[in-house]
Amino acid sequence: MNSPLLPGSTIGILGGGQLGRMLTACAHRSGYRTISWIGHPDAGPAAQADQVIEEPFDDPEALKRFLREADVATVEFENIPLLLLQKIEKELPLFPNSRSIEISQHREREKKFLLESNIPCAEFWVIDSVQALANALRELPDRGGILKTAEFGYDGKGQLRVSGDEDAQSVWERFGGQRAVLEEFVGLETEVSVLVARSQDGTIEVYDPAENIHRNHILDVSIAPARAVKVAESLDYVGLLAVEFFITQRGRVLVNEMAPRPHNSGHHTIEACATSQFEQQLRAITGLPLGSPRLLTPVVMMNLLGDVWPESGQPDWPQLLTTEGTTLHLYGKQEAREGRKMGHLTTLLSALDKAESVIASHRSTLGIDV
Ligand code: AMP
Repeated sequence: MNSPLLPGSTIGILGGGQLGRMLTACAHRSGYRTISWIGHPDAGPAAQADQVIEEPFDDPEALKRFLREADVATVEFENIPLLLLQKIEKELPLFPNSRSIEISQHREREKKFLLESNIPCAEFWVIDSVQALANALRELPDRGGILKTAEFGYDGKGQLRVSGDEDAQSVWERFGGQRAVLEEFVGLETEVSVLVARSQDGTIEVYDPAENIHRNHILDVSIAPARAVKVAESLDYVGLLAVEFFITQRGRVLVNEMAPRPHNSGHHTIEACATSQFEQQLRAITGLPLGSPRLLTPVVMMNLLGDVWPESGQPDWPQLLTTEGTTLHLYGKQEAREGRKMGHLTTLLSALDKAESVIASHRSTLGIDV
């Protein structure tokens, strides 16, 4: 294995969102520098990086600059053009590798990877024509299915719920004739995401599945992490990987999708775990030993979406911060739009049974209907 990149080195981050911002904060704390290539002119969350490249991802001069400045590269957003990732990978260590990112960029590739790796997922059919759709609709179980674009849709966009007895031609037209994956609809008991970190020498650390803090799915606690580890190993993955699972009412543990980066469901790790997901990412990509993912205290994390911003001004931060153990994270986004992730609140709890009252109190201050 190569010797680790030591503090003073520069982390090259592709993407300009809050995940890169939090990675930068963590890198700075340990004496690393960052260069963020964001691909657009509005630095927003990435403004804290030591250097920001705004040029589009196909700009050759920008690529030269990125390669010159960065000692290692990573992504904070998976939809970075594959060609760019491959060019970077020839010149610099890129963690995770471009294959892992390529697979998680694309639902069809992701499903095929899971199938080939013998990792259970919802049953699916690749749809590239009306005929393929007609055939697949006939095979759907009674519960029906969900048609999803092969390239990742965003926030549930590009998805259509279908039943087996619909007319293939009209479904295909409504869906715009795009290449798609038809998935069986599964009866969900819950959804769980597992964060797994894998180092350059193959060492693995797994965080406790976030949702299990509130729920009691003992069985899933052992199966889902074991499957997440299998995904990471099959990809020869280095870095922090989020694997989202469906736990079905009949007890099946299915991989829904993977995110090749730190994940929204892991923000509580900043205050509540021995090593945060961002520090873990930093350690993995620089070749430092991974830290302990141990949860040190019960915790709740709440996303702050643009919806909770009043017409003018800001939410009532002083009131929210009167709750003991609360930390406010804001991502430096100028405009609070509906559904936009503006920040999050983390509250460390003295006991797990305080979670519901803390959530109710935050929600009431933010004006969210309980
Ligand atoms: P996705 O973008 O694939 O993560 O889907 C968004 C949400 O839709 C998931 O978090 C689930 O709640 C629901 N969903 C997606 N696929 C299925 C499925 N095959 N069966 C049941 N629910 C699903």
